[in-house]
Amino acid sequence: MKMSFLSVICYFLCCAYASTDENKPVQAFVIPHSHMDVGWVYTIQESMHAYAANVYTSVTEELSKGKHRKFIVVEQEFFRLWWNNVASDSHKKKVRQLVKEGRLEFILGGQVMHDEAVTDLDDQILQLSEGHGFLYETFGVRPRFSWHVDPFGASATTPVLFALAGFNAHLISRIDYDQKDDMQQNKKLQFVWRGSASLKEQLFTHIMDQFSYCTPAHLPFSNSSGFYWNGVALFPDPPKSGVYPNMSLPVTKATVDAYARTMVENIKQRAAWFRTRHVLWPWGCDKQFYNSSVQFNNMDPLMNYINKKSKEFGVTVQYATLGEYFQAIHQSDLIWKVRGSQDFLPYSSASQQAWTGFYASRNVLKGVARRASSQLHAAETLFTRYCLNYPDGPVAKDWALTKLRALRWAVSEVQHHDGITGTESPRVSEMYMQHLTQAMMSVDELLAAIILLPHNLDSKGSNYHGKGFVALSSDVSTAQQEYQYDANGLLFAGAHQTLEQHVIVYNPLAWNVTTVVNVTVTLPFARVYDDAGQAVPAQIQKSALSNMTYDLFIVVDLGGLQHRKYSIKFSEKPCLRSSKCGETFEAKSVSFERLSVQDWKKTGRRLLPVLSECYKLMFDQDTNLLHSITYLQDKRNVEMTQDFWEYQSNGDVRAGPVSDNYIFSANGSAVRAYEAVRMEIVPGDVLSEIRQYFYRNESDDDYAFSVVTRVPRCFGTNVGCQRLEQTYSLGPLSVNTEVVFRTSSSLRSERTLYTDNNGYQMMKRTHSEFTNNTLARNFFPMVRAAYMEDELSRLVLVSERAHGVSSQASGQLEVMLHRRLWNNLPWNLGYNLTLNDSSVVRPTLWMMLGAKGATSQLYQRAAIELQHTPVVMPIDRPREEDGKGWSETKPRGSPPPRALVLPPNLHLLSLSIPGWNYSSRHDVHLARIRSGQHRQPEPDYDRVLLRIMHIFEEGEDHDLSKPVTINLKDVLQAVGEVSAVEERSLTGTWDVASMQRWTWKTAEEMPIKNVSSIGVIEEPFSVTILPKQIRTFFVYFKSSCRRL
Ligand SMILES: [Zn+2]
Repeated sequence: MKMSFLSVICYFLCCAYASTDENKPVQAFVIPHSHMDVGWVYTIQESMHAYAANVYTSVTEELSKGKHRKFIVVEQEFFRLWWNNVASDSHKKKVRQLVKEGRLEFILGGQVMHDEAVTDLDDQILQLSEGHGFLYETFGVRPRFSWHVDPFGASATTPVLFALAGFNAHLISRIDYDQKDDMQQNKKLQFVWRGSASLKEQLFTHIMDQFSYCTPAHLPFSNSSGFYWNGVALFPDPPKSGVYPNMSLPVTKATVDAYARTMVENIKQRAAWFRTRHVLWPWGCDKQFYNSSVQFNNMDPLMNYINKKSKEFGVTVQYATLGEYFQAIHQSDLIWKVRGSQDFLPYSSASQQAWTGFYASRNVLKGVARRASSQLHAAETLFTRYCLNYPDGPVAKDWALTKLRALRWAVSEVQHHDGITGTESPRVSEMYMQHLTQAMMSVDELLAAIILLPHNLDSKGSNYHGKGFVALSSDVSTAQQEYQYDANGLLFAGAHQTLEQHVIVYNPLAWNVTTVVNVTVTLPFARVYDDAGQAVPAQIQKSALSNMTYDLFIVVDLGGLQHRKYSIKFSEKPCLRSSKCGETFEAKSVSFERLSVQDWKKTGRRLLPVLSECYKLMFDQDTNLLHSITYLQDKRNVEMTQDFWEYQSNGDVRAGPVSDNYIFSANGSAVRAYEAVRMEIVPGDVLSEIRQYFYRNESDDDYAFSVVTRVPRCFGTNVGCQRLEQTYSLGPLSVNTEVVFRTSSSLRSERTLYTDNNGYQMMKRTHSEFTNNTLARNFFPMVRAAYMEDELSRLVLVSERAHGVSSQASGQLEVMLHRRLWNNLPWNLGYNLTLNDSSVVRPTLWMMLGAKGATSQLYQRAAIELQHTPVVMPIDRPREEDGKGWSETKPRGSPPPRALVLPPNLHLLSLSIPGWNYSSRHDVHLARIRSGQHRQPEPDYDRVLLRIMHIFEEGEDHDLSKPVTINLKDVLQAVGEVSAVEERSLTGTWDVASMQRWTWKTAEEMPIKNVSSIGVIEEPFSVTILPKQIRTFFVYFKSSCRRL
């Protein structure tokens, strides 16, 4: 996203031209580029039609006409759509030639330019790998430089991941305006960034100067803008005449000198902000170069003119790729300052413009995007196992891979910096949602096929392609209720017989888990059995959300990557003979009358305890709010209330700053968002549920917000009691309100909190005072986790989607859950970016309270477990049993598959069959491409991609922070017999042994780390993983997945 370049008037200051070397001319690297948002205000299809396809077509043609011309290609989604659907054979041939000559350079190489604040590490890696896989398979190229010119603030995780992917340099732009001013004045825009405190990966980083990625458009000699000779893109159709709006004044004999002086002046101004005499001069902006001939035909003579007068001007200009610019900086051999693991979040573009609203914009899209990512992980792991264990199984590999690829594409796409951020127009939000849900439904079908079809069909049988398969219920997980999925209606039968239904529960993590899953049902009585016919603990109760349905909570016990079948027997009548009743607890709720806030005179007198093995929660019957929590391990009590508050924002630009998709700008402090509260408590054996309903006005019939807190009890089982699960319900909100769920406690946290960067690492956030906008600038993104603490205790929240968080008072932590806004800023109205989001949202957080050390051991893993809760698949319609009433027969199933289990500090980040077809040897792959054997390669089903991550920081925990050595042969026994292991770069395209990244000189010596970088790992395939390290492998198994 860029506010139209015409609206950004850039002033050419007449400053002193400070060049590092007075005798040498300043060397400007003119980098032609087009910033192509994969979404934002136009759908992908609209963008392809209006301009994006023309960018690649016309750039290919124009570069072929002049050997000096260059271009950088960034977003792979658009490029691939063009390559696959638009480009002619002749275009493809030309592109290959231009790539070979280094004139068309692939930068970054991800499917999109991902957001850095609200995206999860898993998805960043996915979208980068998706683009890199295509580029390497197709061209044999591996991007070495980043171009993160538009994400709204910069995360410290990004340089870590880009270093692991083999990048030589990183480029960002949007950081706080005041910080950029300071860095610019002091020539500090370039440095070496060590993004992780534990992992000593480092990456040279360049922050763009104040002109950012668009060419300065202001011409002192003309009323029209300059350097944009192709004008601005026209929607929906490109003009037939080829004449676009706002085309710059042509370069002619009459104008060339004025143009040259303007450009030179700008180059010299920028040179003063950098340590070398090289200037990066981005030529382009949003949606440019769709008509490249007019662009180059004007820039060519202008550059010639400047170079002819280079002595007079003190400047030379040349077309360049980003790689050539960084090469020049690298060759300067300077010593660079080191930046540690601090990030550049949050981001303000001006004193009243804090871009902290988007952390919470479009909560539903944020939730669906993350759920799609979890489903993809589950499906990838399941398919990999299936493929290797049943190479002759009935699920066709190509059919399966097509479905997985569609979901990889959709999850990658929404990571765009105007996608998951929620900063796009409603139409584009719908587009992302549609792509995600379609791909998810399709993968549901794959999951069902893998699990349900008999595995041992002989190879003569035909492969399953998804036709004529009806057994699967459309709702695969109760977690999918929120959008398009209807979790109700599982049961249709109204008869009085006992009914039986089966559900498969799959654990997508490489850890053994015992947890509770929730199946929504329509009958009030049920018993549950596992695949060995043993009754399992369960609890059934009326649902908090609907009178028509019941929540059936089942305690499941699953090994790593294991699925098990559970049988549920239902009845409309209670089970009377206890011997047949299994272990299901029928829970009943206790209601507490609605209390008005204005009647809160004396509080804290009548406290009601809810107990688990871990906690004693006290609820105040004078307020119906939480009063305190004691964590029993240390017998420490923390006073704590939780309720909803809202910020009210201004909708009229004439009255002051406004909040929108991007910006958070409240009128003042938050106000209490309710006048009365009602409570219900459902005590149970598996869990106790506390339901609190908040009424906006005392007299309202319906509540405006609710929170359901689940306290796992599970005495005698292994279910962790540390996690208090809270699910909130909000919406539709009143217009121009932004609602937070606020936890106020007796912790002496002094307004300091900790929030994560992309689920990778935690950042300390101390409260800062600013001249303006202090409130909004103290909001931070929370992707997976946030906590506050004092010397003794820590309160941790982990999340399944991104939110904004803040601490506005000591002991307080508030999570912005939802926003609905409207304002009359013409730009916002024009693009429909006011965020009038009337949806109902239902996010979930897990809350943990304990001593610092105890919570340190738990929260990273809890965050991953919340992200990857077991997949619950009802596999049939309930059917009547033969006998009437509760039957004696116990169901029998097959034993579950062997578990794949990693140590508690290692997380299985990826286990998949990528399908990209290239040799692991670069020379062999390049030779194959050069020989022309590159046309539509068959997918490679034999190569398994394995990524393992150490989830602890160095020194965070006495035991869990240690490096871990595992033997892959043993660990992967459950998948198959390992025959070979190769270590690869993060996105898989480099053999790590051959990957040589540029070294940059720093004042601080780099601590030498004993990191192995041998490519091929010999038997017995032992690998050591250091704190926060992510290691990527290609693994080959003795059994082949390919059907022979
Ligand atoms: Zn953008």
